[in-house]
Amino acid sequence: MGNTPSILFAISDTGGGHRAGADAIAAALKQLAGDSIQIHIVDLLASTDVPMVRDAPSLYDQLSTRWLPVFDFFFQLTDGRRRVDLLTQIVYLRAHRNIVRVLEETRPNLVVSVHPLVNRLIGNTRRQYRLSFHFLTVVTDLVSLHAAWADLDAELCIVPTNEALERLRKEGMPESKLVRTGFPVHPKFTAYVKSKEEARASLGVAREPFTLLVTSGGVGSGNLRELVVELHRAYPELQLLVVTGKNAAVREELQKQGLGELVHIYGFVNNMEELMAASDIIITKAGPGTLMEALVMRRPVIVTQAVGMQERGNIDLVLNNELGAFCPTVDRIIPAVAELMDPERYAATSERLAGAVPRDGAFQIASLLLEQLQLAPPRVRRGLRLPSISDLRQISRQRLQRLNPQQLRLRLRNQNAPKRTRSSRRLPGTTRFSPWRRPRDK
Ligand code: UDP
Repeated sequence: MGNTPSILFAISDTGGGHRAGADAIAAALKQLAGDSIQIHIVDLLASTDVPMVRDAPSLYDQLSTRWLPVFDFFFQLTDGRRRVDLLTQIVYLRAHRNIVRVLEETRPNLVVSVHPLVNRLIGNTRRQYRLSFHFLTVVTDLVSLHAAWADLDAELCIVPTNEALERLRKEGMPESKLVRTGFPVHPKFTAYVKSKEEARASLGVAREPFTLLVTSGGVGSGNLRELVVELHRAYPELQLLVVTGKNAAVREELQKQGLGELVHIYGFVNNMEELMAASDIIITKAGPGTLMEALVMRRPVIVTQAVGMQERGNIDLVLNNELGAFCPTVDRIIPAVAELMDPERYAATSERLAGAVPRDGAFQIASLLLEQLQLAPPRVRRGLRLPSISDLRQISRQRLQRLNPQQLRLRLRNQNAPKRTRSSRRLPGTTRFSPWRRPRDK
């Protein structure tokens, strides 16, 4: 495998969507290029080993299930390019050796960021160590993008909607770097060919009843327990497939309720395509991953809530295109189910779903990545973008003392960079692919 070109997907397991996006593109790459490409998917924030940052997945779990206003507060507080630059540089100072370690282990020719908060860590590392890999970002939010998605270091920024494109333009991304493709939905969704009845049979659930899939992202955020209990009380004749994701507590509570044989409670599942195929309506938070999967599977959606400000615009996307309903409270979800079940309304909504979103987003992106691998390695200018004095002053006087540019340069010079080597490692037999260049001592 040593000669094989390598792609590193840098993600963070905050929720399930970023990994799902990377998995989707990786699966499409496998279909297009087989084993001729090595693929690594790494939670880069966890790899930094910087306190708080490495705990991003569990912090996101807590904030999105219990402290949503705090999550939104931090979103707003950090939503500006300069602010993101500054905060990332502070993290970078503690994280860069661990990031280099990941790069040494995976030796990528191409790094693809699928998470807004890892972008600058990659760009900074590439510049400081003069590494020759290509760098792209794949945006996995649909409308309300955080400013951290706008990263000038990336050669290309791949976005899933016109709204996302517009937002990044406004954040100063040059037109030449922006590419619009479909959302990276895993090919297993479009490849699922079984009928609704067959899917139900293979899940071992009842074949006849009208079926609702209730899900709330990878962490099972929001008020799933109350929603399921109330739905069952209002519609005992309907079948409910409930995915609680990583929320073990709510799974256990619901299982204890003994809601009868038409209510099926699952934990974290790996067969979402089958569960969607078996369902008539999908009730979900406004997570971009689940929404796009539902639309690709042509199932009407009822959106319960936006978990975080980055999901707010997704609700408009559903409503503007009449792809379902938005019901932020259980009281409103109950009648919305009845309305959407009405055969005429159901048929009209299903028809609109047919061409609503591109179904081959993962393949479009995979093709772009393969093209990128054919290009000559980028010329990377050396130098870490240091925070300006005025930027640092804004953070705190104490930090200013510790991080003045002179000291910073000295520190970086003395850091334990990997050993100098004369031979940069070539990828044998693949001269058209860019070689991995080892980091050098400063
Ligand atoms: N997902 C999954 N198994 C589960 C729950 C969720 O595979 O048990 C997947 C789901 O299909 C989607 C992703 O996790 O691809 C959730 O992404 P979304 O953007 O909807 O929400 P997030 O979890 O990122 O907040």
